[in-house]
Amino acid sequence: MHLVIFDIDGTLTQTNHVDTCCYIQAVKDVLGLDEVETDWTSYRHATDAGIAAELVDRANCGAPADALLAQLHDRFITLITAALNRDASLCQQTPGAMAMLERLIARDDVVAALATGGWRASAELKLRRSGLDVFDLPLATSDDDVSREAIMRIARERAAARHQDDSFDVQIYVGDGVWDARSARALGLGFIGVAEGEQAHRLLAEGARAVVKDYTDLEGFLRTVQSAGRHPTN
Ligand SMILES: [Mg+2]
Repeated sequence: MHLVIFDIDGTLTQTNHVDTCCYIQAVKDVLGLDEVETDWTSYRHATDAGIAAELVDRANCGAPADALLAQLHDRFITLITAALNRDASLCQQTPGAMAMLERLIARDDVVAALATGGWRASAELKLRRSGLDVFDLPLATSDDDVSREAIMRIARERAAARHQDDSFDVQIYVGDGVWDARSARALGLGFIGVAEGEQAHRLLAEGARAVVKDYTDLEGFLRTVQSAGRHPTN
């Protein structure tokens, strides 16, 4: 059985830009930080909750961290919901994503799941607005843990529980970030990148078995999935 876990932002939905803009605005509104490092690789955990925890720590505003984290989460969800309400084109699925998931899920030797560094409300919003919520895939998010590896592990557990089978002989993560490649490697998963240009080279250098621009070459992507896995190391 193949397990294929997908990231969401930049992988299934083209939402990295709106996501970053709303996140930075929420940080400004709640923590009063005007300068926010947007090289997410510079944070210990490149996840919504992980970055928020580091920024709350740095802001050192005296208020209880839990309250600030909750405010930051709520402000971000308000902002991104408003942004997508204003302009639905900000939440497009990656070309071919719907057809690719349909084909993948129809196979009886493949189990698909989602693991995102975003908060759950943000993930569900993007899946709904891009039309990808119809698949009701097992989902793990930044609400589950600050660490991407832990989120991916939880997604794997949820997929195994849903299908009452944890004997995945091939495990693959599909993502667009350097952190995705590193987390997949740490967990012993094969990695397929979704990127083009410079970022595609970066992901290959981080160990991606292959990098695709999108899913419009459906047969090519399915062949890549077929060949990209390896036996898990843990
Ligand atoms: Mg991503």
